[in-house]
Amino acid sequence: MAKKIVSILMLSVIILLSSIILPLSTLAFLPQLTVIEWSIELSNGKVTIYAISSEDDSMSNPDYKLLPYHWYTTAKYYVNPSNKYGFSVSDVVNAIKASAEAWDSQTSAQVFNYMGTTSRSAGRYDGYNVISWGRYRAGVIAVTYIWQVGGRIVETDTRLNTYYKWSLNGEAGKMDVQNIMTHEFGHWCGLDDLYDDKDYWLTMYGYADFGETYKRTLGYGDILGLQAVYGA
Ligand SMILES: [Zn+2]
Repeated sequence: MAKKIVSILMLSVIILLSSIILPLSTLAFLPQLTVIEWSIELSNGKVTIYAISSEDDSMSNPDYKLLPYHWYTTAKYYVNPSNKYGFSVSDVVNAIKASAEAWDSQTSAQVFNYMGTTSRSAGRYDGYNVISWGRYRAGVIAVTYIWQVGGRIVETDTRLNTYYKWSLNGEAGKMDVQNIMTHEFGHWCGLDDLYDDKDYWLTMYGYADFGETYKRTLGYGDILGLQAVYGA
């Protein structure tokens, strides 16, 4: 009998404690949202173009900058292929998978895992890492949403701005899906934008332009940054 009373007492103490601690801990673990917008080249005056190398020097440029957070597990991502550009589902998925593979092929860690298509939208904290097209303001090509808790990313979404025209093969006057997504996946990996002219040819250079495809392939600094996070 006495034992039973003790254990019932213990139980109520545990319930009481957890009713205090649980709301506190959920508050502490509420993910912080960071929104990384990718501006169209020269649109916000942050860069001067006079010092850009005329030749692609990305394989000898070791520059990179890390974000204060990254994924500690494989980022399982879904693609919403719905678009107004006439792209087939498989062409969209293949372009985005190629973007992820550019990073994954440079580390022994498995950074990304393609899970399938979805009808979900990017930009919502819903437990799914989603890439989709969607509306956004002019001047921003794509936007990556990062939800993190104490430096650990718990969800990442990327929205491609329907304000712009898009292409799967680097057409003039359009944004190339693979080019843009390779850069955005760099943010998923924990890399930040670089705004110096000397970093123009790196994938993590902070501006992009129509018809551009050179960011599909990583430069030396992009790879060094990835490996600083995930190992070689
Ligand atoms: Zn960026």
